[in-house]
Amino acid sequence: MRVINFNGGPAVLPMPVLEQAAAEMLDWNGTGMSVMENSHRSKEIAAMAAETQETLKQLLGLGADWSVLFCQGGASLQFAMLPLNFAPAGAVSDYVDTGLWSTKALEEAKICGSSVHVAASSKADDYTYIPREYSFSESPRYIYLCSNNTVRGTRWPSFPKNAPAPLVGDFSSEFLSRPLDLSDFSLVFAGAQKNVGPAGLTIVLIRPDFAAAGQKGLPHMLDYRTYLANDSMYNTPPVYAVYIAGLVFKWLRDVMGGLEKMEAYNQDKADLLYDCLDQSGGFYRGTARPDSRSPMNVTFRLTNEELEKTFLAEAKKEGLVGLGGHRSVGGVRASLYNAMPRESVQTLISFMKNFMAKNG
Ligand SMILES: *Cc1c(COP(=O)(O)O)cnc(C)c1O
Repeated sequence: MRVINFNGGPAVLPMPVLEQAAAEMLDWNGTGMSVMENSHRSKEIAAMAAETQETLKQLLGLGADWSVLFCQGGASLQFAMLPLNFAPAGAVSDYVDTGLWSTKALEEAKICGSSVHVAASSKADDYTYIPREYSFSESPRYIYLCSNNTVRGTRWPSFPKNAPAPLVGDFSSEFLSRPLDLSDFSLVFAGAQKNVGPAGLTIVLIRPDFAAAGQKGLPHMLDYRTYLANDSMYNTPPVYAVYIAGLVFKWLRDVMGGLEKMEAYNQDKADLLYDCLDQSGGFYRGTARPDSRSPMNVTFRLTNEELEKTFLAEAKKEGLVGLGGHRSVGGVRASLYNAMPRESVQTLISFMKNFMAKNG
């Protein structure tokens, strides 16, 4: 029996994608073998990878001034590649600190020798909101932000305007959940396992002229230019993950109807659940400030930890799994990524109302 999967990541994938992948497992595209048994140098795989890049660019409305790279090493390797390429020893980079993943990114930049300036932080308020005022340094190489804070359940409603440097960002846990205006950005990345596909693939969107101006002399696998020059096939890319990502992108385009429709669908799901929290008379308490709430990761607490344990155990018995908060903060987190159906959110809400009736 399939459960309802609220995991923060790896996370739920669209059923039609899983079904197609299952049907094609033994013989993909007439090759007589699975996708993952094909050589990455074959024309079939090259065409599949190119189509995956094209579908993604189409979804985001990106032109020739953007390239799509398939990297590995997770979002976490980007924490190092960014400063190595663009803010090496001695150069200044600005970071906005909104919780665990941005903190890790700025610590990594320090290890790479970057002179890190924290332009804003919500740490003093336990990362419950997205700062709206920044003190940028004079000429940073880039300004870094994490657009959706998976652990704290906060999301940037909009991004800084007229910043003194290109924006770069970690979009892992909200990538393709809404249309994206990239005019002020030069690079964004997303680990696949939240909203795109299997872990092992990291999508990087980069402006080629930004990449070209990067630090020279890096090891090949750490240099964005290697991926650009070799169409992300300098070495063996995570072919199966790219294939699933391609199916997800087509599902977004053809079944969900594109990113504007996806955004409306996601906001509706999130509104249902946040309303349930807000109308519970304090039985369920959302942890993020309302102006910073994430539609992707809804984080909340019950009145005590014992009750939270009971809540999670009973939810699991009902087939509602993956609702535990990130291990660094505890509590409850319902991740409502693109592939989470509205009906599943309604099932969760019914469970929550029953649980409150019994324990409130
Ligand atoms: C999950 C997550 C990461 C870590 O991704 P890995 O692929 O495991 O390195 C980084 N940033 C954000 C926002 C995440 O949600």
